[in-house]
Amino acid sequence: MFCRKCGEKLNPDAKFCDHCGEQVVLLEQQSDNEEIELETKKEDEVSANLKNPYVLPAFYTALVAFTLGMFPYPHSWGIGTSLPMRIIILMIALLSSYHSRKARQVNRMYYLQNQEQVKPGLTKMATVLSTITAMVALFTLFV
Ligand SMILES: [Zn+2]
Repeated sequence: MFCRKCGEKLNPDAKFCDHCGEQVVLLEQQSDNEEIELETKKEDEVSANLKNPYVLPAFYTALVAFTLGMFPYPHSWGIGTSLPMRIIILMIALLSSYHSRKARQVNRMYYLQNQEQVKPGLTKMATVLSTITAMVALFTLFV
């Protein structure tokens, strides 16, 4: 701690500067303000680092289910269009659907708290992709 007026080093419990007599109270008030500023900065950083652990799993599982459903290769083996495979695709699509619903819930909470969302475009894409794939996969089970 240093004197505000003359810059001389102060004792931690000193009320007045030994050198020039300046009151130390003013200095302490200033350092309080600095601490408040630091805390506000920290809060800003936290809001900028929002995490939504459901977005990427939702997107990638949707992509896998969609790709397996759309490109059932090799055709000659009949694996891609077999009943077990259609069930697996449906399961992955439903898993993705679940994760994208969670991702939307987390994003909605973030939006209410600080008007921010984590990868809203990717979340929407995962939702659309998983919904379409799940519906198509469900449909093909009964065809
Ligand atoms: Zn002083």
